[in-house]
Amino acid sequence: MPQNLLALNWKMNKTPAEARAWAEELREKLEPGEAELAVMAPSITLPSLAAHLPPGVALGAQDVSKHESGAYTGEISAAMLVDVGAKYVVVGHSERREYHGETDADVAAKAKQAQANGLIPIVCVGEGLDVREKGEQVAYTLKQLEGSLSGVGPDVVVAYEPVWAIGTGKTATADDAEELAAAIRDALTERYGSDADGIRILYGGSVKADNIASICGQPNVNGALVGGASLKVPDVVGMNDALK
Ligand code: PEP
Repeated sequence: MPQNLLALNWKMNKTPAEARAWAEELREKLEPGEAELAVMAPSITLPSLAAHLPPGVALGAQDVSKHESGAYTGEISAAMLVDVGAKYVVVGHSERREYHGETDADVAAKAKQAQANGLIPIVCVGEGLDVREKGEQVAYTLKQLEGSLSGVGPDVVVAYEPVWAIGTGKTATADDAEELAAAIRDALTERYGSDADGIRILYGGSVKADNIASICGQPNVNGALVGGASLKVPDVVGMNDALK
């Protein structure tokens, strides 16, 4: 069983000074746990976090350019993220898909670019409410996964995030999460063979300290991608402790 990954997605929150204060507070309050902890922070905060995070806490970004370098104003390359200490990068978050029109092909291109530079992509997939209400969540999510992993190697993390559960306070049940995680595991096995056993499948959508243990206790769920509850250190400590 792969080690649980607790991936914290700050979204567009915290200045570099606020990030430093958060990292210093985490250093004081975090006790060693069993999950790997990683902070997906706004790219501009990464240098400050790299200097102040507790040892062993990994750094990640929330997006990356699909291009290597060059005339792409405003973009940040995978090599730049590696240079400031990032290990992970989230690609294809539903907010990027919805507000920035990212397609599965874009997500796959970003994931490939990340891997080519030694970053581990966290590829997000998941259905909206309309799809869930029709009971088509498995077929929809697997199709999205197929497109988003096209040409991508097995050094990847997959985050199943039902869009209707993100930032809404509505959490999928542990059984709902496992239904999709098991289907994703089968699709990964078809694609990568036995390498799929080591791939972490995260659940994301209104995870907090009081529901993380039951969700991550499912056989195919290996951690969580957490938005709202990642912003305050006591909540993070609570989730980390719940995974012990
Ligand atoms: C997310 O941002 O990926 C997320 C799951 O957010 P929240 O935990 O706030 O639902």
